[in-house]
Amino acid sequence: MAYRSELEARIAKKTTRAIVDYDMLENGDRVMVGLSGGKDSWALLQALDVLRQRAPIRFTLIAVNVDSGYKEYKHELITSTCKARGWDLRIEHTNIGQTIDDILDDGATPCSLCARLRRGVLYRIAKENGATKIALGHHADDYVETLLMNLFFAGALKAMPPKLVSDDGAHVVIRPLVYVGEDEARAYAKESELPIIGCCCPACGDLGLQRQRMKRMLMEIEREHPGVKQSMLKALGNVAPRHLLDTRLNPPAELRARVEAAQAVGPAAAGGKPRVAIPLRSV
Ligand code: SF4
Repeated sequence: MAYRSELEARIAKKTTRAIVDYDMLENGDRVMVGLSGGKDSWALLQALDVLRQRAPIRFTLIAVNVDSGYKEYKHELITSTCKARGWDLRIEHTNIGQTIDDILDDGATPCSLCARLRRGVLYRIAKENGATKIALGHHADDYVETLLMNLFFAGALKAMPPKLVSDDGAHVVIRPLVYVGEDEARAYAKESELPIIGCCCPACGDLGLQRQRMKRMLMEIEREHPGVKQSMLKALGNVAPRHLLDTRLNPPAELRARVEAAQAVGPAAAGGKPRVAIPLRSV
């Protein structure tokens, strides 16, 4: 089966590289795609459907839409689109929107609570449908934005795992679009004539959200220095743990033991007296 366009070929190549790099799929997998109706999740579903027909391994797809319960949400359009393309779909109606409203104070950012609640629903549906993998549509821009958000606001140096095994080992979440840019996902959803459906959440598109701020900042820097986002993504796969301040990565006791061992062995091997190591603390 030939690719329909250069864009499709490029996205298929990047998605395949991610699947191989992070060992995302196995023969016989049943992959549940989180389908919000936004451009990224449509692009993911389309890309996986194309790969499914070409891949040397066999896997099946089921799309799952978690409806947060906002009245204007056009889930019928998701249903009709999936039906027209022969994609398996399950829609789960929830009251996540109302729950967020009830729990959060006015002005609080709802996204992390929303993501946790949706994740819980996805885990349950995955179990009910025998899904072995849960695929989410996070792309390269999401990775670098998340990295910056954690750096600036959470005091942590982290982005997102491309493959995550849940704490109890029961679920595997994969992000096959990790190498695909947001602009590519947008163009691919458009080229594939998939209807972009807003989530209808009041926070959606709120320019005051930290993520939107990171997006604007990155766009400005990228305009001045093209390739910055690509460099950031590359950095996430090129970590130098010894050049960081996390003592869990560089336990001081281990470092001291290495120095003491080297200092004790060095002179003895040369026929001299072993030196007495000076505890680093006293230096
Ligand atoms: S914008 Fe709305 S739907 Fe999207 S993660 Fe935030 S709260 Fe959830």
